[in-house]
Amino acid sequence: MHELAICQSLLDQARQIADHHHASGIERIIVQIGPLSGVEEPLLAQAFLIARSASGFPDAELEIETSPIRVHCHQCRTTSEARTNALLCGTCQSWQVDLISGDEMILKSMVLSEQPAQLIEAG
Ligand SMILES: [Zn+2]
Repeated sequence: MHELAICQSLLDQARQIADHHHASGIERIIVQIGPLSGVEEPLLAQAFLIARSASGFPDAELEIETSPIRVHCHQCRTTSEARTNALLCGTCQSWQVDLISGDEMILKSMVLSEQPAQLIEAG
């Protein structure tokens, strides 16, 4: 399962950050996922439950934020948001666009178990 491998590497990354900050555990992991990343959010959430129990952070929660699809247009040279099923410029409807964001899957931030809890910006 694709999503399980993603969760495992996500938790590995989170563990390194937690170790670096000498945290006792991880409360929450916040990820940002673009609609074009190919990651299915429900499957990711499900896989996370499996991965976290093996990771040593059984109480960690996953929070998923969806990032917008943004394109840069070669015709009118603006940057706009596009829909998943139509990668067109939002200003002039041209299809000659470059994808700027929307296909990423990043560990955005996490909340570590500490006294007091601390929000770490990861990205
Ligand atoms: Zn345009």
